[in-house]
Amino acid sequence: MLNLILFGPPGSGKGTQANKLVEKYSLLHISTGDLFRYNMKNDTPLGIEAKSYIEKGDLVPDSVTINMLKAKVNENPDVAGYIFDGFPRTIAQAEALDNFLKEKGQSVSGLLALDVPDEELIKRLLERGKDSGRKDDQDESIIANRIDVYNKETAPVFDFYKKQNRADKVLGVGTIENIFERLCSMIFWM
Ligand code: AMP
Repeated sequence: MLNLILFGPPGSGKGTQANKLVEKYSLLHISTGDLFRYNMKNDTPLGIEAKSYIEKGDLVPDSVTINMLKAKVNENPDVAGYIFDGFPRTIAQAEALDNFLKEKGQSVSGLLALDVPDEELIKRLLERGKDSGRKDDQDESIIANRIDVYNKETAPVFDFYKKQNRADKVLGVGTIENIFERLCSMIFWM
């Protein structure tokens, strides 16, 4: 199985690239952000709980996020592998993912981090906010908080996997096709 973590700050292109990767490698794309938004749209108890955090650009608590992720994986056992997009975002989530996959006799194949300068991220997020309707993409102070949360809480997840030789950075600027090729050439070695 290929279990890939597609990593990077908000606006680094994880969703766009994940959509291309799932096609090429027949994987299941699991985006925790998309799952939260689906629940928010449908006013489920999970969506209502997550909303207050997401609207501020803060992380949803680990226990809620981890349980949601596990449920999604368990609902879809017969796949060639998973692309985790936007998860794990804390060390506790990374440890939970490792243990969860281990119980299934699986492991994380690798983490690829899209590397994009902050100015470019802000530009992309504001642009996306114009037609996505995502409130957290429309307000510069919420965007700044998301990038800050990424640097403080999420970036250490890269080092967690790097120490185990399972993480690499990939330049996340250029055309969508160029970035996709860079990712595929890294996946080749996993
Ligand atoms: P995203 O679509 O990945 O940018 O996620 C949108 C928002 O959902 C984030 O700003 C967080 O509030 C929340 N979220 C998504 N994934 C996670 C996660 N793994 N842990 C905690 N919160 C998350």
